[in-house]
Amino acid sequence: MPGPIDYTKITIVPDFDTAEWWMGTKQGKYLVRQCQDCGHKWFPPFPACNTCNSMDLGWFETAGRGVLHSYIVVTQPILGAFVDAVPYVVGLIELDDCHEADGSLVRVGGVLLDDEDAIAIGLPVEVEFEQTNEADIVVPRWKICGSADNTWKFDE
Ligand SMILES: [Zn+2]
Repeated sequence: MPGPIDYTKITIVPDFDTAEWWMGTKQGKYLVRQCQDCGHKWFPPFPACNTCNSMDLGWFETAGRGVLHSYIVVTQPILGAFVDAVPYVVGLIELDDCHEADGSLVRVGGVLLDDEDAIAIGLPVEVEFEQTNEADIVVPRWKICGSADNTWKFDE
């Protein structure tokens, strides 16, 4: 397991586009933006739909489960908060219950709780919420939650 992220060394400030998302994580909800006009879903939140340009937006609450679609391993901490956390894995996760109109799965990025040795593309993951030193800031992390028959790693 990667070392801890030192949240005292970063300040996360929710803005107009992310405030409701951060309220969701505090309540243990993993939300993605959803366009109210065309149904397009995306993460991270930004102020207009990039499919139809609508600014009539809502939220889709996912179950916080998916499959690791790809990943990178961060070995150089860019911020002081991550000095003890490296090496850690940033995953691209396809959410099980979050589809576009054409059936494609919505992908989100997130920092995993597992070491590189324990992960592989194709494994199931689920979200886990990590309380920071700020009462209102809860950060979603992802962890491997099962096995799969057809997996792949970058060192193979
Ligand atoms: Zn749209």
